[in-house]
Amino acid sequence: MIVRHFTDEDYKKGLDARTWAKLLGYTRPYRLQVAALILIMVFFAILDAVTPILTMYAIDHFAVPRQTQGLGWFAALFALIAAGRGFAVWAMIVTGGRINTHVSYDIRKAGFDHLQELSFSYFDKRPVGWLMSRLTSDAETLGRTLSWGIVDLVWGFALMLMMAAIMLWLNAKLAVVVLLVLPLLVLTTSKFQKKTLEKYRAVRKVNSEITGAFNEGIIGAKTTKTLVREDANLKEFLSHTGKMHDVSVAAACYASLYLPVVLILGAIGSAAALWIGGNGVVAGQVTYGTLVAFLSYATSFFQPLQDLAKRFPELQNSQAAAERIFSMIETQPEIQDSPTASKAKALPDFIGNVQFERVGFAYNPNEPVLEGFSLDVQAGQTVALVGPTGAGKSTIANLACRFYEPTAGTIRIDGHDYRDMPLQWLQSHLGIVQQAPHLFSGSIADNIRYGKLEATEAEIRTAAEMVNAHPFIMELDQGYNFTVNENGANLSTGQKQLLALARVMLANPKLLVLDEATSSVDTETEKLIQSAINKLRANRTSFIIAHRLSTIRAADRILFIDHGRIVEEGDHRHLLRLQGRYHKLYTRQFLDEKETELLG
Ligand code: ADP
Repeated sequence: MIVRHFTDEDYKKGLDARTWAKLLGYTRPYRLQVAALILIMVFFAILDAVTPILTMYAIDHFAVPRQTQGLGWFAALFALIAAGRGFAVWAMIVTGGRINTHVSYDIRKAGFDHLQELSFSYFDKRPVGWLMSRLTSDAETLGRTLSWGIVDLVWGFALMLMMAAIMLWLNAKLAVVVLLVLPLLVLTTSKFQKKTLEKYRAVRKVNSEITGAFNEGIIGAKTTKTLVREDANLKEFLSHTGKMHDVSVAAACYASLYLPVVLILGAIGSAAALWIGGNGVVAGQVTYGTLVAFLSYATSFFQPLQDLAKRFPELQNSQAAAERIFSMIETQPEIQDSPTASKAKALPDFIGNVQFERVGFAYNPNEPVLEGFSLDVQAGQTVALVGPTGAGKSTIANLACRFYEPTAGTIRIDGHDYRDMPLQWLQSHLGIVQQAPHLFSGSIADNIRYGKLEATEAEIRTAAEMVNAHPFIMELDQGYNFTVNENGANLSTGQKQLLALARVMLANPKLLVLDEATSSVDTETEKLIQSAINKLRANRTSFIIAHRLSTIRAADRILFIDHGRIVEEGDHRHLLRLQGRYHKLYTRQFLDEKETELLG
């Protein structure tokens, strides 16, 4: 398996052309519109370029000889050109707008689609805010660049080219004087380009740090309040925004220098043209109209360049945005089907035997969580994982689900190394109930249906009945059509757990992984949940990270995990007889429960 991670560093090594080529690839589906936009802008540039010629003609044929023959036709041509410009503006806005919308949509979609495929480990390392700003502001920036950027670039270059050609045609000597400034301008521009890109890259980086901090601040708002952490959070936020201020000001100061430099160089060119051209008029070598046209060209020749210069920071910003978004899109999922896990071959039935053979695992290199961990679970068994926090219980469950893969050793399902099988084979037989189950905004029925999208109303109801969720659902306003708020904020913890159990019951997986909730619910709900779990774990292999004594007692096997090792193993009676760690945990919990019962 090849894991390719493109980092900012990779891109700094001069992959600019590649980035832009990839970015331009997003306009491929709209190549007709892009071609139309280019034609429109060239047309626009032609109209702009001929205007000074008209002025020249007017001076030399009407104003200087003081005659009006043909003036009517001339005026009509002028009006036609004005109308042509009006049309070009309209066509540009419509076409550019379309490209902008489509391209940012496509980039956003490509990013979002890819996020669905990425493995757990990717999300461990990226704050939600970072991902959000890739899909929102970055995608928008890129759409804008690929539409309005094209507009400015094509117009600017076409206009400059045509003006240069016309000037050379009118008077080669004067043209050379004006154009002499050009190499200097190009040199300055390329120098500025490099430096500004670096500065804007820093701005975007700090920006996404801020978005990340915002996101954490909002998600964790309740926790912050209960822990009276507001001041500390504010301080942290101020340090982020302070950094943002510094890098932004540095970038803006630098970018602001460019325009004055371009203006001064342009003015030198115009002054030289005026000086030499003026002498030419006096000597009778240059017509009055030609000088006026030349001055007009000399001053407006640098206009497109200035516009391009204004666009430069944006282009550079876009390149930075593109680098980030591509680094996301190009990350290969760490867990993916190996070439041998052919989807075509007939897949064996899923029985549910799970075997860990000398499995090693680490989230971060040099911090092993499991080493040489072996475990053999027969199909249909319920294995309760108990032990202190951080012992490795969730890690074992995550590895069984193939959310992460072992860094050493093998995990076999029904005798097959699961890396040789399609991911889909395991995960389509897998059901998970998390400690804090995630509910989506939508109806109760939709939330249960998430376990099996094609389920009928009757099936949903049966699943809810089996896990004892039906009675509480019927008490809600509109029953199964009750609207669940984002992440189930309008339901109690116990109700959310029952719904999550109903969802898995409906999916009817062969392998169940259940992380029992630690937060206490009332005794009545506790009993309902317990009986639901018992029904759910019947006839399937179950890994339960168990906190409830009743679950633990009923499990076929209990593994007491500590520091990634099984320190005690057996059924409830056996472990009690051992008088070891489990015995201690059990008696403590048992006494706690009794105490609660007595007090309650
Ligand atoms: P348990 O479920 O028994 O509480 P875990 O399996 O969650 O324990 O954690 C085992 C160890 O792995 C802990 O030291 C924990 O800090 C670490 N760990 C868990 N999840 C991650 C993760 N996503 N990234 C890095 N370290 C992790």
